[in-house]
Formats: sequence, structure tokens, C-alpha cells
Amino acid sequence: MFHRVFIGIGSNLGNRRAQYQKALARIAALPKTRIVKTSSLYESEPLGEAKNWYVNGVIEIETAFSPPQLLHRLQEIELALGRKRTADTKKWSSRKIDLDILLFDNQTVDSRTLKVPHPELHNRRFVLLPLCELAPHLTHPRLGVTITDLLVSLKDGKRVMLLPPHA
Ligand code: ATP
Ligand code: CA
Ligand code: CA
Repeated sequence: MFHRVFIGIGSNLGNRRAQYQKALARIAALPKTRIVKTSSLYESEPLGEAKNWYVNGVIEIETAFSPPQLLHRLQEIELALGRKRTADTKKWSSRKIDLDILLFDNQTVDSRTLKVPHPELHNRRFVLLPLCELAPHLTHPRLGVTITDLLVSLKDGKRVMLLPPHA
């Protein structure tokens, strides 16, 4: 049984666009998984103390993995692409790649290590803009409103800009 999943991708260290593309290639190479759609790329102002702007986007995949299995596979890809995780790594610190599960079918998951829908999805322009390109009419499983509705009522002052394809 295949699941429809949306993944948020971000990079704000090193060659951001190259790392984004490498993550895409690795996700495409996962067993029992295919990429269905990819959003445009955006450049977004960082959260927290990080200074470097992010390259961000969202992809839609079909996968036979369960939510925890997929999280594990995505974390393996983060590590393979040089993401460093140590005990004192601060939340939202700069990273070569960040892969978040945004939505997994219409499911909700609330474990210690995995929360779906992603708990900040509805508060982030850098997530909602690319997600809206792919699935404007999709209903948020907890909030019961569409991605377009979330974007229209969003209050997020962080800047997000479309990144031209060959900039
Ligand atoms: P944010 O979650 O606010 O975007 P972040 O992406 O910087 O912050 P990370 O340090 O990448 O946070 O991840 C911390 C932990 O979040 C991971 O180890 C993972 O177990 C957990 N997590 C919970 N829900 C999710 C999800 N939907 N997708 C990815 N990781 C998740
Ligand atoms: Ca994140
Ligand atoms: Ca993450």
C-alpha cells in the first residue's frame, strides 16, 4: 500500500542548491518510493540564531514505508549528506540538509520522535508557499482547512522569495 507524503527540504550551509538536488536524488533512489512532484525552490530567512538564508522547497512522494521507517531513511540521508548532530546542537542551527515529514496521507502521528503533520507547518511561509504549489486544496488533517486557507490567514513576518531556476 502506497502512501502520499509531502517532505520539506532545506539547506543553509555550503552549496545549498547542490545539496538540495543530492537529497532529491537520494530520496528518488529509496526502495518502494517515487517522487511525484517537486516545488519551485525558494530562498528564506533563517529561524533562531542562524544567519545564512535557506534554500527551501517541498516534494510529494509515494512510498510504501511507514512513518517511522521513512523518518529513519530521511535521517540516514541527512547524515550521508554531512549533517552534524551532536548533543549540544541547537535547534534550528545551520545545516547542510534538513528533511522534515510534513504530511503523511491523512494520518496523525504523535510519538516522542515523530509528529505528523509537522507541528509548525501551518506557521511557516517557507513551508506553506511551496506546499501550496503542489497541493493547494489539500486539507490539514488536524486543522481541517486547506493549505490555501492556511497561507491566506498566515502571520509570518519571515521573508521568502522565489529562487529563479538558474540564479
Ligand atoms: P523543526 O522541527 O522546528 O523544523 P528542526 O527541523 O531543526 O526543527 P531537527 O533537529 O531536524 O529539528 O529534528 C529534531 C527531531 O525532530 C528529530 O530528531 C525527529 O525525531 C523529530 N521530528 C518530529 N517530528 C518530525 C517530522 N515530522 N519530521 C522530521 N523530524 C521530526
Ligand atoms: Ca525543520
Ligand atoms: Ca528536521
